[in-house]
Amino acid sequence: EKPDWLSRALARAGVFPQKEAEDAINAGRVTINGRVAKMALAPVPPGATVRVDGRVVPLSAPATRVLAFHKPAGVLSSTVSQHRTGTVFEVLLRQLPPDLAGYTWHAVGRLDVDSTGLLLFTNDDKLVAHATSPDTQLPKRYVATVFSTADDERVEPLRKGMVLDDGPARPATVRVRDEKTVEVTLTEGRHHQVKRMLGVVGLPVRALHREAVGGIELDIPEGTFRLLTDDEVREGL
Ligand code: URA
Repeated sequence: EKPDWLSRALARAGVFPQKEAEDAINAGRVTINGRVAKMALAPVPPGATVRVDGRVVPLSAPATRVLAFHKPAGVLSSTVSQHRTGTVFEVLLRQLPPDLAGYTWHAVGRLDVDSTGLLLFTNDDKLVAHATSPDTQLPKRYVATVFSTADDERVEPLRKGMVLDDGPARPATVRVRDEKTVEVTLTEGRHHQVKRMLGVVGLPVRALHREAVGGIELDIPEGTFRLLTDDEVREGL
């Protein structure tokens, strides 16, 4: 998490709205570590003591926020928020209301450019590390539309655990929904992993969609986002 700037830190601490915080800063009423801070955009280093009119302001760490986003096909997954054309952030950031737009967002993992479905974002980089670590074994459920014909016998190697060119894959949970539709749940997330695993058994992937990450199910229209509740984050990730 980057340091907050002063007016935002004061607004978050609930001292006053950001505009009034700016007025107080301009009036020289605010100090950071004992020095008068004259700029609303002054960075507040972690652990700094901020005072207004001499009184210490308790600055709590910003709460963990998690957004669910329904990624459309054709937009690129990048990992840290930037307004780069053609990325998930471009689509996401332009929709965020002001209270969410100020955070630095990190994508929790990635989806291929042509893949669709659930992509999570958070302001908490520790949560990214936790959720994407192979040790966490967070299940990710995908639905693949395949060329050729799927049946239980064909997908069996995915269940047993197969060896990919970058090493052995953990056994996956696989359900053949119909002969063109295969549900695959992975507890790891290597590059193109679902496509590669299905490719090995002769089921090249035509389209790939992620329906769930941990306990979070995709429940919003393509291209839109939703802020998860604290309970969803606590229980689902
Ligand atoms: N596996 C893939 O092959 N592609 C994705 O986007 C996600 C998982």
